[in-house]
Amino acid sequence: MRVVVIGAGVAGLALARGLIGAGHRAEVYEEAPEPRTAGGSVSLWPGSTAILGELKAEPAARGVGRRLETLESWASDGRRLLTIDLTAAERRYGHPCVHVSRAELVEGLADGVPVTYGAPAVHVDPGRALVRLADGREVRGDVLVGADGRRSVVRRALRGGDPAKLSGWVTWQGFTATPTELTGDGRAVMIAGREGLCGLIPAGRGRLLWWFDVRSGPGRPLWADDPDPVARLRERFGGWTAGPLPGVLGDLGEPDFFPHHSQSVPALWGEGPTTLAGDSAHTMPPTMAQGANQALEDAWLLTRSLGDLRGYERARAKVVRRPARLAATEATNMQRPIAGLLPDRLVTRFYTWFLRRASNYLLTAP
Ligand SMILES: Cc1cc2nc3c(=O)[nH]c(=O)nc-3n(C[C@H](O)[C@H](O)[C@H](O)COP(=O)(O)OP(=O)(O)OC[C@H]3O[C@@H](n4cnc5c(N)ncnc54)[C@H](O)[C@@H]3O)c2cc1C
Repeated sequence: MRVVVIGAGVAGLALARGLIGAGHRAEVYEEAPEPRTAGGSVSLWPGSTAILGELKAEPAARGVGRRLETLESWASDGRRLLTIDLTAAERRYGHPCVHVSRAELVEGLADGVPVTYGAPAVHVDPGRALVRLADGREVRGDVLVGADGRRSVVRRALRGGDPAKLSGWVTWQGFTATPTELTGDGRAVMIAGREGLCGLIPAGRGRLLWWFDVRSGPGRPLWADDPDPVARLRERFGGWTAGPLPGVLGDLGEPDFFPHHSQSVPALWGEGPTTLAGDSAHTMPPTMAQGANQALEDAWLLTRSLGDLRGYERARAKVVRRPARLAATEATNMQRPIAGLLPDRLVTRFYTWFLRRASNYLLTAP
């Protein structure tokens, strides 16, 4: 089949890669003039590293990223409250949890995929799987997939409007290259307090991803117009003494800023020969670290479902709603000392179970 894919993010590239591997003809149109590799790093759970293995784009095989062994919750004074053993999920599902920069993930997926850059889609006819590009060219497939992110033009043509709303939280994030006790480690750490949440995760090659999630008031996201957000972060989190945090606050570099959005996920995403994949179908806040994982899950199932697009949407909607609903509560930003009362083994078992419930790949694996 000839499949036209709009958007060369994680969803579009993984889909095109899978389709080409399965013998289909896939062509990707991307509005940016070159690969979009900005935006920190992402955690990938066992379903996703398995899918990347099938796509021959596994981070470990390319010597990028960092295998994660634990996910830890600390208090702002550095007390360890809870440890989830991620090697339990690795043993159970046979694939690791990995943290990798978006640049390295996108580069691995894009290798060998035909992408036309600088080609924004401006008009979509979903019933005919037809797209007009900004230069006036029309492209048409047997199937059309909108993998064009939260502001998707394909979704707008299908359903109108933008269902995603600001959740009231924002993320400030970046890499620090200053060596810390966590940089060469397999520990992902989340530190919660009244001021917000800080995350620290090694991303390989001497980088540590840091991020701060802070709650905004109504209206404009917090510090969106502030000329010196680094100073604001230091003021707000300067009293925290946990582990390497004081040193990290001294070397924040140029942070990126992401307001959180969430939406409810409908049962059906498309019509006729047109469907969606990735954030265009299910934008969620980054709090469960699931958006890129769910994009890979879409790509994996859609590659196998070209003849039954509504079946693909139903099967994915049922599963993707689980992390999307949890992420929308922003609950992980509001961990309380009660986390210290929960037994590590119990939470590890729950998290291992949840990772399967959030993955069509793992749910169908033997
Ligand atoms: C701060 C932050 C941290 C995150 N951390 C994690 C994490 O740890 N784990 C995780 O799984 N997820 C994480 N995510 C979420 C994850 O990054 C996204 O869910 C994922 O990248 C979505 O991929 P996508 O391909 O659907 O969309 P996108 O990455 O948005 O790609 C869409 C592409 O479509 C292109 N496009 C848009 N409009 C058009 C058009 N009209 N014509 C042509 N092209 C177009 C865009 O330029 C873009 O390249 C995080 C997100 C944020 C903001």
